[in-house]
Amino acid sequence: MAKNLTTREEDYSKWYNELVINADLAENSGVRGCMVIKPYGYAIWERMQAELDRMFKETGHQNAYFPLFIPKSYFSKEASHVDGFAKECAVVTHYRLKNAEDGSGVIVDPDAKLEEELIVRPTSETIIWDTYRKWIQSYRDLPLLINQWANVVRWEMRTRLFLRTAEFLWQEGHTAHATKDEAIAEAEQMMNVYADFAENYMAIPVVKGTKTESERFAGALETYCIEALMQDGKALQAGTSHFLGQNFAKAFDVKFATKDGGLEYVWATSWGVSTRLVGALIMTHSDDKGLVLPPNLAPDQVVIVPIYRNDEQFDAVSEVAVALMKDLRSKGIRVKFDNRDTYKPGWKFNEYELKGVPVRIAIGPKDVEKGTVELARRDTLTKEFVKSEEVVEKVISLMDEIQDGLFKRAVDYRTEHTTVVDSYSEFKAVLESKGGFISAHWDGTAETEERIKNETKATIRCIPLDDDNEGGSCIVTGKPSVRKVLFAKAY
Ligand code: AMP
Repeated sequence: MAKNLTTREEDYSKWYNELVINADLAENSGVRGCMVIKPYGYAIWERMQAELDRMFKETGHQNAYFPLFIPKSYFSKEASHVDGFAKECAVVTHYRLKNAEDGSGVIVDPDAKLEEELIVRPTSETIIWDTYRKWIQSYRDLPLLINQWANVVRWEMRTRLFLRTAEFLWQEGHTAHATKDEAIAEAEQMMNVYADFAENYMAIPVVKGTKTESERFAGALETYCIEALMQDGKALQAGTSHFLGQNFAKAFDVKFATKDGGLEYVWATSWGVSTRLVGALIMTHSDDKGLVLPPNLAPDQVVIVPIYRNDEQFDAVSEVAVALMKDLRSKGIRVKFDNRDTYKPGWKFNEYELKGVPVRIAIGPKDVEKGTVELARRDTLTKEFVKSEEVVEKVISLMDEIQDGLFKRAVDYRTEHTTVVDSYSEFKAVLESKGGFISAHWDGTAETEERIKNETKATIRCIPLDDDNEGGSCIVTGKPSVRKVLFAKAY
């Protein structure tokens, strides 16, 4: 039987790492900062991919694939972009190895130096806009709405499984438009798609907003984001959508013939979410017993565990279990019947609790006799007996009930951990005592933002897009502020 996890109260970050390992989601690899995503963790990512991919296609996007390597010269064409990513780039310099003459092993062949060094993509704007130059000539070629599912590499110094890794999986949308307004509308639309996905599939409430200039994506004129609050009171940037203006079109000379015969630079957006979302899912819902998954993303929504002492009992129980599994599957429920005889029921119970399967159904010989099953909920850890003929209906309604319950619990947590403050001393006190989001007036300058960050470690998570536009004065400088912004310590 697996050992108990460190509790969240004892050490949140230790709890997180133990959960990722014990629930079989991922593990560290031999490569610094790079993880192995195990089948169960990958199954969750695949569910995320499936829903997001559907949403992207429903909003008119198509998938394509661009190279992993980006020539260094492409990278330096957009100045602020290269500035932003230079510190975390992996660079390929050679294309061959050879045996060392002194027999000491394999070395890089100095004769196989690349003429131009290649950057392992940290993001693909440059290679994609170099390609778009060939694809876009006229207004008829626009809008161009492309998404890519890929891996990227950012040489992060402080890494954590899923939350921040040196290589991560993501999707990156890259769109091209004829007008500024259209591009802004696209960037906003994709932020809304992300928010919809976060709230309705991940059951994670998010704040939609824009980033301050210093937190903006390198090369963007505006970065829209969704920000979520984790159970330890720290914020997590869950997704970003950038309005890139004409910066990349100018850098890569992408112009189009307008309807009235002119020639103009194309407007751009890019947007992405990554395997970080798996970390967000864990840190929003899980408890000291392990993972808690919202039904809409759980690889298995229901697991059926047979209880038996001999072959005869196993056969009787299995017959009921298989029939129930088929019934549930016909209603679109993802069910697993764990009939392995190599593990005891108690071990399986523990395993599925750790793995966050929303509903567990146990069927034993007594249940077969009485026409009942035992049904346990992972979110509330409650159990009840349900009549066999009512199980399917019960499970279907539970899927919504659990999904909604998790969302509501997360909303309540966020409400309790969002504080409006009017002074810097109150700001610091709240940050120390309960953390969470702090809504406060800020004078709009990078200097004040930097000072707050240095003194408290809290950053401006976003300028929310809600309609609270009441002016006031900055909590630090007393200078005028047009609206409150959202601060938090963040992952
Ligand atoms: P960006 O291209 O910087 O806007 O990032 C796009 C998405 O990838 C955002 O949702 C980030 O939260 C996420 N992300 C950025 N860096 C990492 C990383 N090192 N590991 C995992 N996800 C990341």
